[in-house]
Amino acid sequence: MTVGLTDEQALIRETARDFVDNEVVPRIRESDRAERFDRELAERLGDMGYLGAPVGEEYGGRGLDYVTYGIIVEEVGRGDSAMRTVVSVQTSLVCGSIERWGTEEQKQRWLPGLCSGEAFGCFGLTEPDTGSDAASVRTRAEKTDGGWRITGQKMWISLGNVAELALIFAQTEPDRGHRGIACFLVSTASDGFSSQEIHGKLGLRASDTASLALDGVEVGDDALLGEVGEGFKVAMSALDSGRYSVAAGCVGICQGSLDASVAYAKERRQFGVPIAGFQLVQEMLAEIVVRTDAARLLVRRAAAVKDAGRPSTVETSVAKLYATESAVEAANLAIQVHGGSGYVDDYPVERYLRDARVTTLYEGTSQIQKLIIGRDATGVNAMVPPSA
Ligand SMILES: Cc1cc2nc3c(=O)[nH]c(=O)nc-3n(C[C@H](O)[C@H](O)[C@H](O)COP(=O)(O)OP(=O)(O)OC[C@H]3O[C@@H](n4cnc5c(N)ncnc54)[C@H](O)[C@@H]3O)c2cc1C
Repeated sequence: MTVGLTDEQALIRETARDFVDNEVVPRIRESDRAERFDRELAERLGDMGYLGAPVGEEYGGRGLDYVTYGIIVEEVGRGDSAMRTVVSVQTSLVCGSIERWGTEEQKQRWLPGLCSGEAFGCFGLTEPDTGSDAASVRTRAEKTDGGWRITGQKMWISLGNVAELALIFAQTEPDRGHRGIACFLVSTASDGFSSQEIHGKLGLRASDTASLALDGVEVGDDALLGEVGEGFKVAMSALDSGRYSVAAGCVGICQGSLDASVAYAKERRQFGVPIAGFQLVQEMLAEIVVRTDAARLLVRRAAAVKDAGRPSTVETSVAKLYATESAVEAANLAIQVHGGSGYVDDYPVERYLRDARVTTLYEGTSQIQKLIIGRDATGVNAMVPPSA
């Protein structure tokens, strides 16, 4: 479906498609098997201008609109969700937050290196005891003379072992709840900062995932991103963009599942004919087609709202919920179309399913997206139980 793309967007899509087919796809199977983060390939994303695509050109980005950003993310997601995670974290969560909330000095210091891929950033919100209820972060930031001392733990942090910069969300005044949270730009080379690799994941095996420990990490006042008390807003605005990119990446998984399934169904013969000729196989293919188209349209709608500068939280949650659940469904159907061949990594479809699975969990689970959508529909906030 190419409806509504400008010539420039169509060209950017073709370039991204060629890059992914020629440089990303050939490397993913080995990285996935080895659970190895391919930093060289991640840096190539920077060379291509895919890290920080919507960031202003004055800071090293490309100044692209959200529709075009989504097109790039979809193509990367079709090839490799581990690399798509790099694009999402670096662009939406890290660069987007610095561009929106940072001082001019912070933008000049960090954005050019992050957009070019010379440096990587990670987004440290989740903790061992704090997931969906992000307002209850326990990492503590205490005021010192001229700065802050940060102590706590972060869990499941993408790029946490390879990043030079960590956005760390910490509580400055526990009595103030989410109004006490602040976001800090922390160099991962700081004394007291350490990371540990998390292995054994179901999918995203080629993605770096870390637990972080901050043991009295000292930062200056100039490390504050936004004001004290604005950390929760920083996190929510980052997730508005991050969820969009996850949704766009899932359109890529849907499209990849479709492409692989159609090709296989036309080639594989049973009962003397290609299996594409069986109605029950076409039913599975049709389901993937409809989900792919619908997910892409919802992503484009969310992009249109963002590009118009309007609040897009609900449209983003609708797109994220539908695209992520559809990616799981499409990949699962794709394995079914492939029969036993779909169960091994000679074809991409088993990886699509393993990689898709996390997308209904991170950047807000499907349940959290439904609560956001339901709150908008009813005006009633069901996120926090009445007794809490
Ligand atoms: C591979 C990977 C990479 C990640 N990368 C990052 C990262 O870079 N940065 C970062 O900060 N985090 C990251 N995360 C963390 C991710 O965002 C969290 O796992 C996610 O927010 C869910 O939190 P949780 O795991 O603590 O689950 P919980 O919040 O404990 O949820 C468990 C279950 O309870 C449900 N639930 C919770 N609250 C409600 C409610 N109010 N109503 C109904 N149901 C509810 C959930 O939907 C879920 O089904 C990553 C996670 C993974 C697995």
